[in-house]
Amino acid sequence: MPTIPLFSAQAANAGLDFLSPITRVLDSHWYILGAELAAFEREFAEYCGVGHCVGLANGTDALELGLRAVGVKAGDEVVLAANAGFYGSTAVRQIGAIPLYVDVDTNTLTMTVEQLELSLSSSTKAIIVTHLYGQLAPDLDSIVAVAGKAGLPVIEDCAQAHGAKRNGKRAGSFGTIGCFSFYPTKNLGAVGDGGAVVTNEPSLAARLQGLRQYGWSSKYHVALEGGRNSRLDELQAAILRAKLPLLDTWNAARRDIARRYSEAFSGLPVKCPNSLGDDYVAHLYVLQVSAREAFRNSLQTKGIATDIHYPIADHLQEAYPCRPNQGPLPVSEQTCKQVVSLPCYPGLEADKVDRVIHAVQSYFNQAGG
Ligand SMILES: *Cc1c(COP(=O)(O)O)cnc(C)c1O
Repeated sequence: MPTIPLFSAQAANAGLDFLSPITRVLDSHWYILGAELAAFEREFAEYCGVGHCVGLANGTDALELGLRAVGVKAGDEVVLAANAGFYGSTAVRQIGAIPLYVDVDTNTLTMTVEQLELSLSSSTKAIIVTHLYGQLAPDLDSIVAVAGKAGLPVIEDCAQAHGAKRNGKRAGSFGTIGCFSFYPTKNLGAVGDGGAVVTNEPSLAARLQGLRQYGWSSKYHVALEGGRNSRLDELQAAILRAKLPLLDTWNAARRDIARRYSEAFSGLPVKCPNSLGDDYVAHLYVLQVSAREAFRNSLQTKGIATDIHYPIADHLQEAYPCRPNQGPLPVSEQTCKQVVSLPCYPGLEADKVDRVIHAVQSYFNQAGG
């Protein structure tokens, strides 16, 4: 039997017409910062329910330039979670700022307002909230309120949460800035690298337009410190425009798969994703299991791919030793040993979902669970 992959671009993109958008760009002979990007920025801002979108080269740049846009500089402290794959940390380190890690909620694995409040100090300059696995952080409103009182910007990392919504508001529209990646496996994926920042603040959007182009205020006038070359090209923007109208349908398809898994696994000794509502777009379907290696091996012998998101907490990565005042993060450290991702993507056929379900059930039946 063919292996069921964790993600299939072929299945997720099946039936899409990529040639029309690509031909449109080729015929225009305009490849960088043109009409397609401007149109995508308008359409994605509208989709997210915000005033502005600025296309960038990738999601990590979105986080870095987003932090720079809100004024984070070398030596400043940024509060974030340690269980989100080091992307936010990469951005913080790139600036020479200092990450202060806080622990996450045991059920949603996202930042809690209690942990945030304990961590705030006069050195804090910004907060990154990651909507991990596509789950809009349940504490987001209170985090934004606490940050607002302290005069601190909130950067939402929405790279796994395109379209997640609560009370009619989409991911990226709650905080000061929302950062997106369009890496091909994301819920909205390009055919290469891509990213964007969304915001309601016109001055932040203007600063990001400068930062993505060498720090220019106008051609060859460098007005902004920390500028880079980080642009979303016309081909990627045109592809993303073709895909954006289907995002809600794809998110619903992902959520349907997640729902089938969670219903089937309800009696098993596993922890399933916290929510199956609109606030979860099922970018990843992640179980928490003990004896994870045995579980993964059992699925592998049945031709089912799994992966770990993520195996090492940020504060334990070898390139960047812990600060002496970084406290332990029991939930983050423990869940790094227990999380395992199952195949979950639009176009994953029902019979393959059945195969995954049976493989998981039979592992626990044989284990006497
Ligand atoms: C993918 C991802 C990023 C980084 O996006 P790139 O486009 O790969 O740079 C950032 N944060 C999270 C949570 C991600 O999943």
